[in-house]
Amino acid sequence: MSHADRLIETEHRLGAHNYKPLDVVLTRGAGVHVWDTEGRRYLDCLSAYSAVNQGHCHPGILAAMTEQAAKLTLTSRAFRNDQLALLYEDIAALTGSHKILPMNSGAEAVETAVKAVRKWGYEVKGVPENRAEIIVCADNFHGRTMGIVGFSTDPDARTGFGPFAPGFVTVPFGDLDAFRAAITENTVAFLVEPIQGEAGVILPPSGYFPAVRTLCTRHGITLILDEIQTGLGRTGKLLAEEHEGIEADVTLIGKALSGGFYPVSAVLSNSDVLGVLKPGQHGSTFGGNPLACAVARAALKALTQEGMIDNAERMGARFKAGLGALRSNLVAEVRGRGLMLAVELVPEAGGARRVCERLKDRGLLAKDTHGHTIRIAPPLVIREEEVDWAVDQFAAVLCAA
Ligand SMILES: *Cc1c(COP(=O)(O)O)cnc(C)c1O
Repeated sequence: MSHADRLIETEHRLGAHNYKPLDVVLTRGAGVHVWDTEGRRYLDCLSAYSAVNQGHCHPGILAAMTEQAAKLTLTSRAFRNDQLALLYEDIAALTGSHKILPMNSGAEAVETAVKAVRKWGYEVKGVPENRAEIIVCADNFHGRTMGIVGFSTDPDARTGFGPFAPGFVTVPFGDLDAFRAAITENTVAFLVEPIQGEAGVILPPSGYFPAVRTLCTRHGITLILDEIQTGLGRTGKLLAEEHEGIEADVTLIGKALSGGFYPVSAVLSNSDVLGVLKPGQHGSTFGGNPLACAVARAALKALTQEGMIDNAERMGARFKAGLGALRSNLVAEVRGRGLMLAVELVPEAGGARRVCERLKDRGLLAKDTHGHTIRIAPPLVIREEEVDWAVDQFAAVLCAA
């Protein structure tokens, strides 16, 4: 039994089986590449679900992390630390946010926003107590907490976990009429992903978000964009909202906010929504800790000062064009924006999982979703020759007779 096989066997025996990973045991990463325990190198085309946009073990983030870890890691918010204000300043300068609330995981940022908009609804909008409604989209993905899975439409995510919290209304993504029809005087927020990631990289119809923005403004509805996956350069812009020419009232970021070193998320608020939270009404032991702040500042600096966002746009276009030009009767569609891409296979392809296994054998790691979709999201530091090599691997797997 190899070392890797032993580790896999132990995981299987001792771990809960809530994931079914590809059987590749990674031990090292640098930039766009990761290495397994046998020394084989892979091109990472998942980037830990876009948490590693800056590339694995980015040296600038690593330096910030080790330096801060040797100085001060955690104070809790019972006391102040000298890093939090600096992170606030950096985020505000970059995004124009007026208020920021730091958390850890993405799901916590979503939960925080849900709590804040409900309170805002009662205290500012005047919604009767316990009547606040939040509109969400079918096929959404916002995380795994009890609150969030309660408004998921994915049977795997929710079946068997009820009862769930009320107050959520579901409409199809991209359907403006359905959104308009769902609005009531108790609607406090619309929570939506700019591009549905876990659903398989589903883009909205053009004009949808500008019209949503107009309706939200007209009806006093807080527009919450969950940019935990689409944000921080993934789509070729700092935030995906820029593609739509709109501004959210509340923006959620996470994942790449730490470049994959540490869970760091944040709620960014453009309106007075976060203003309703008073001392003692929300918090997190680790949220806003000095280590997280130092890491996040370095992660944002790497993104913005090393040309990664422009690179995502250019390499994404190249990757998409390369995949689109594949002469394969197994490919139904190639879609996406920037380096958030998906290849949709025809049912005869035998499933995306099988294709991902074959790509893995050729040194490329990508993730299947929903049976027939392969998601492609390499670190934003990927170079032309690496994109071309990746396209060649797809060609070898999908174009073989
Ligand atoms: C990953 C993700 C989340 C949840 O983030 P966690 O850190 O896993 O809790 C929420 N929303 C979107 C759009 C995501 O992609």
